[in-house]
Parts: sequence; structure tokens; C-alpha cells
Amino acid sequence: MTRTEQTSAASPVSQEAAGGFLHIDLAALASNWRTLRDSAGGAEAAAVVKADAYGTGIEQAVPALAKAGCRTFFVAHLSEAIRVRAVAADATIYVLNGLFPGTPSVYLQHDLRPVLGSFEEIEEWAAFCRAQGHKHAAAIHVDTGMNRLGLTVSEGLRLQDRTELKDFETALLMSHFVSAEESGNPINLRQIEAFKAVRETLPQVPASLANSSGIFLKEKPHFDLVRPGYALYGGNPLPDQDNPMSPVVGLEARIVQLRWVEEDDTVGYNARWLALGRRRIATLSIGYADGYPRSASARGKSGEELLAGQVVVAGRLCPFAGNVSMDLITVDVTDIPEKDLKRGDTVTVIGDTLTVDEVGRRAGTIGYEILTNLGRRYARIYGGRQG
Ligand SMILES: *Cc1c(COP(=O)(O)O)cnc(C)c1O
Repeated sequence: MTRTEQTSAASPVSQEAAGGFLHIDLAALASNWRTLRDSAGGAEAAAVVKADAYGTGIEQAVPALAKAGCRTFFVAHLSEAIRVRAVAADATIYVLNGLFPGTPSVYLQHDLRPVLGSFEEIEEWAAFCRAQGHKHAAAIHVDTGMNRLGLTVSEGLRLQDRTELKDFETALLMSHFVSAEESGNPINLRQIEAFKAVRETLPQVPASLANSSGIFLKEKPHFDLVRPGYALYGGNPLPDQDNPMSPVVGLEARIVQLRWVEEDDTVGYNARWLALGRRRIATLSIGYADGYPRSASARGKSGEELLAGQVVVAGRLCPFAGNVSMDLITVDVTDIPEKDLKRGDTVTVIGDTLTVDEVGRRAGTIGYEILTNLGRRYARIYGGRQG
């Protein structure tokens, strides 16, 4: 496997001009896809690449996944599907967020498939196909518990009576887990049972239920196709166990300034962090405008254990000090020998023990939100590009 480090053509930020460096390992992404495929009991493994492939970049992630053997992609928006089509000419592409009125011709123009989630959407797609004289493919989404998107289960059980189903190709029947990352949650089994009941009414249609965590449930609800997203990008699909996935995303930030603050000094906006003694502060060139959540701010006193952000500096975890600003984060680096740090050095923001899951937890959110907010001011460095 060749390993080339190159800056993305899509990234307008050069390395010398950047405050942070976002490393995206496309070989790890491909390897995670293979791991998930091999965990899916022979079902086809698709890839969910919505939200710019969870922040990693559609234009880079999709070709890497296609090269690994992935043939089916899911996005949330039609605009994202058009971007996927531009880099994956032969792929099957589904748009999860349903069909807006008047848009079927856009689907046809780019050879995309809507995920239909109501009888109204089904009627519009069927009417479009009748007018076109061709049975274009679409998926049907049945809501088995989220109460968000899709036909109700009772509507799903009546699907085979709908005459419009003759007018298009139902290429996939799908539903989505509410809590698959909680393997013991009884809602998983209820959803699996409801989905199976709907599926029995359309036995010839391929079926799909599992997201990343769903693939690992003991019930093995793999059906014909699995739809992993988060785990592809290195997120842990098994929150209480060791992560079976390889990290894909790494983030470094540069130190703009190092300074000593005195006892009783405060750091940052609104003076929310107090130095109980002389402390050394490193100011990093990254902030909430780069997608690092302000909710990871450290409000308290030096030396206190706070559920707040951390970075790895010269091999050691160092805690945030004060509020996360728009463009800057301040970190307490008193424990690092002065000679080991200088202006311009980089620290690890995501990487080592600071996984995307851990960064999310320390910000009071989930790793998904960390990935999908990854900012636009980083130099993006794609590693592990093949071919
Ligand atoms: C986002 C999404 C997925 C992927 O979920 P992960 O938890 O990221 O694996 C699968 N299916 C649907 C319908 C989704 O919206």
C-alpha cells in the first residue's frame, strides 16, 4: 500500500498558512470499510457519506471507498448526491432525506435514487416514472421507532396494496435504529421485529436496517445491506468496548504564544478560569469557528479535574484553561518542561488517547458532531491515498 501525503486540491489552506493540520488517512478509511463488510455476515456493505463524508471530504473519501469495493453510497441531501456522482460514475447513490416536491427530474438527471418516506413521496415518484415510461429505482423507508422520517409500520404493512408500487422499482426497503449503540436496549429487538414484519409483505425487495453499531448487535440484523457511517471514519460503534476501527482523523493545532500567568490571574473571556499559582499557558490557533465546541471550555481553577477539553502536548495530556474563543484555545502547560515547547510547535487535538469519541465526551456531545463540524481553516492532509 502506498502512502503519499498530499494537500487536497479542494483545500484552499496551505500548510504554512494554517493554524491547524487535519490529517485524514484514506487507507484506514478503506480498511474500516473492509472490517465492517467482513462483520456483516455476507450482506453488502454500503457507505454513508453524508455531511461531507462526516467531515473527511466527499471528493477524497468516496473514491477511496469505491476503490476498496464499495458500490452503494448514502447521503442526506440531493446536493451531496450530486457531488458523490461527480466522483463515482458507476455507484448506486441514495438520498436519505426524502423527496422534495418537484425534484424527481434532478434525480433522473444524475442517476440518483430517493429514499421515499411517505405515501405522498411514493405517489410523486410513481407519477414521474409513469410520465417517463420507465420504472426508476427508489428506496422505501419505514419508521420503526425514531418517529422522524419514513412510513409508519402500519403504513408499511399495507404497502403491498399500493398500486403505485408497480410504477417504479423498489430497490431497497430500509429502516433506521434508534439506539443501536446501546446493545442491551430492548428497543433494538422491537425495531428488528417490526422491520421483519414489514419485510415479509415485500419479500422480493432487498432490505437494510443496520448503521455502524447495528452491524455489531448480537441479533445480527444485517439483512441484505448494511449502512455504516461513523465507524468508517474511526468512531467507536461499541461504546463500552475497545474500538475495533482504525483512527481516520487526526488534528494538530499550532501554538501561537506561550506565557506565564501569576497567581489570581484569570484566563480568557469572562474570566472563567483562575490560576491558583504561577501557571504557563499555551495559546493555540484553533477555536470554535474551526468546529471545536465552545462547550469544551474549562471553567474553574487551575489543577481542578474538569470535564473539559484537553490536548496532548509533548506526549502529555494538558487541560484547557478558560473559555474556548472563536479563533483561540488556551491550555495549561505548566507540567511541560519550558525547554520542550516553543512558539509554532504543534499539539495533538485529535489523536493518541484523544479519540473523536473522547473529544466529543469532553465537550458534552458525541464524536459524530466533532467530525461533522471539522473546520474549513485547517490544512487538510490526505494520507494513505492509493493509486
Ligand atoms: C446517518 C445514517 C446512517 C449511518 O449511521 P452511523 O451511526 O453513522 O453508522 C445510516 N442510516 C441512516 C438512515 C442514517 O441517517
